[in-house]
Amino acid sequence: MRISNIYFQTRANMKNNQYDYSSQYSPVLKQGIQQDTFCRSDKTAAPAFTAKQEQISRDPLTKLYKEHLTCICCGRTMIDPKVIEDMRENHVFRCPTKDAIKILEKYENNMHTVEKSVFNLLKEQNNLYPDRSIQQHLIELKKTHELKLIQKQVGIFKLIDKYAEKIKPELHNEIRTYLLDSFNTIKENGSDFSRIKFIKGLESILQNYPNTANKEKLIRLAGKLPTAYDDIDAFIVKYSKPKYTSENIAIRLLSYSMATIEHIHPQTPDTTGKTEAEAIKGANHLYNYVPECMRCNSFRSNKPMVYQLEDYPEMFINAQKAFDRYIDFAEQGKLSKMYIIKLYKALRQESEGVLDLDYSKLKLTKELHKELEKPFTYPINPGKKDVVIVPKPLPEPKTLPITIREGEVKELNKAVKEEPVVIIEPPKEEIAEIRISPLITKRKRKRQIAEEHNPQARPKELPQKNKKVKEKKETVRRNGPRR
Ligand SMILES: [Zn+2]
Repeated sequence: MRISNIYFQTRANMKNNQYDYSSQYSPVLKQGIQQDTFCRSDKTAAPAFTAKQEQISRDPLTKLYKEHLTCICCGRTMIDPKVIEDMRENHVFRCPTKDAIKILEKYENNMHTVEKSVFNLLKEQNNLYPDRSIQQHLIELKKTHELKLIQKQVGIFKLIDKYAEKIKPELHNEIRTYLLDSFNTIKENGSDFSRIKFIKGLESILQNYPNTANKEKLIRLAGKLPTAYDDIDAFIVKYSKPKYTSENIAIRLLSYSMATIEHIHPQTPDTTGKTEAEAIKGANHLYNYVPECMRCNSFRSNKPMVYQLEDYPEMFINAQKAFDRYIDFAEQGKLSKMYIIKLYKALRQESEGVLDLDYSKLKLTKELHKELEKPFTYPINPGKKDVVIVPKPLPEPKTLPITIREGEVKELNKAVKEEPVVIIEPPKEEIAEIRISPLITKRKRKRQIAEEHNPQARPKELPQKNKKVKEKKETVRRNGPRR
């Protein structure tokens, strides 16, 4: 993940609500930058490989881009970067809006939620004002969306202010002044406000404040300021700026769905709280690669994979789906089986044992069995001999002994169907006749009614000890725990 490195170098140049890789780093929107993470497939092919080069090349994966791979994280079908590259080179979006919409429509299912919403708005607007360009549509839309964005931003500011009350009064005052200044910036010109700069400013105010929990809470709140990644209003405000042409915007609607190569272990991992030896840099090596869409790749940045899983619980399902396809490719000879096992191990290592994929569909050879037994080692960049990486056992899979597979769910459903649970429900008018103190719980009331209709169902008297415990529990539930 080299993006974060470059990101910090050029952070000062960025404005608006978020940092945006699309214009800064994507080869799609900005020519001339050779970006390793978002590298185009056509640039990666080398004429001839030695065995070692082949091992480190991303080529086996980029060759699969045309197979409509799905993102390991969000599960969306990714667009081959070559398709977007051709669109950009041939300026296919230099056309009337209705024609651009026709092209974009083909990729609607690839789009992320925000992009899809923007696209739908564009379609609506174009029905009303067919002569406008995409850029003009966005400028018009800004009028209604800017206020909504500011309302959200102010809401977050209020929350920050509320939590800042809990910390030292002089710091609270400083934060409040900072919030008012930021608000004035937004009021004067919304697009001059930068979320990332705002977070950095807040961090520097809190620099010497010792309470890490409060600090983290405040920074996390600031991180919730809307961005064009996840908020339609932020998207419209950002991309209605004059520097984004209609062509840029059209490409942007697709570019975040483009297939990229993710470094499973980040190239510049988050080093907070780690010693230098622990902060191993992820290698440019096939065994450290997995295809992922540009949005998920950018969004994860250099964060630990467990954070990504926290943000996207769908990833547990999507990763398995993508992994199953890679197994199919391996069985067809389009990928090496060794890559599958290395990928399995790398994901398990990086997720600290949480993402423990099922590789049972892969026909294992002796060599692969051996590899599975071996402890984990990070792949090393060729020519880098100074790094000594000690192999270590893979983290234990963090699966509870309650796994369930698809077939089992079906069986479970079948069992439920065959033996339906009988619920005794008395006729409604009888319920009305029974007068029960409102203090009696609904469940108790239901049971009383059931017992009257079916005396055999009366539960046996509980043994004295259990009863006592139960009574105690009831009291706790009603009155809350004893202080
Ligand atoms: Zn994704």
